[in-house]
Amino acid sequence: MILELKGLYLGLRFSSAHIVFGHDSCGVIHGHTYYVDVKLGGEPSGEFGFILDFKMLKKVVKEICKSLDHKLLLPRDHPHLKYTIEGNYIHFIYCYGKCKKEYKIPLEDVLLLPLRGITAEELSVYITEVIKENLLKLNEGNNIEWIEVTLYEELGQGVTNRVYLNKMIEN
Ligand SMILES: [Zn+2]
Repeated sequence: MILELKGLYLGLRFSSAHIVFGHDSCGVIHGHTYYVDVKLGGEPSGEFGFILDFKMLKKVVKEICKSLDHKLLLPRDHPHLKYTIEGNYIHFIYCYGKCKKEYKIPLEDVLLLPLRGITAEELSVYITEVIKENLLKLNEGNNIEWIEVTLYEELGQGVTNRVYLNKMIEN
């Protein structure tokens, strides 16, 4: 069976700024309102015959959305970005080929994520992993086979990522 949350109807969304460093049109600071859909593949179990309590999954996804909301998202592991923290500011330089750009932004405006870029692809992987970690922490991973996240950068335009829980545990 597949349990599904649709971000558009449930308010599972966040508005953030990003930069696709080096990209012609997306290499400047700009923003999106992202929507998150989540699917869980698994079997019903327990007293209520749930794959997972909807309420619990919604809470987990809402918390992730809140953590990403109204921030400039930056990729900590980008190969061509260098960061330094100076007091309450983050200073970063993108340097690749002929392109060099420098920024100084208040730290409170920024969220550094353990990613190589802030794209719908990378963000969908990040959100899937955080959902997985949270469900395992809540000891709710037992009858879930996989977690699938679709991250819409705008309505109609998204990326889907799936992780298998048991496979991840074996690894
Ligand atoms: Zn964008």
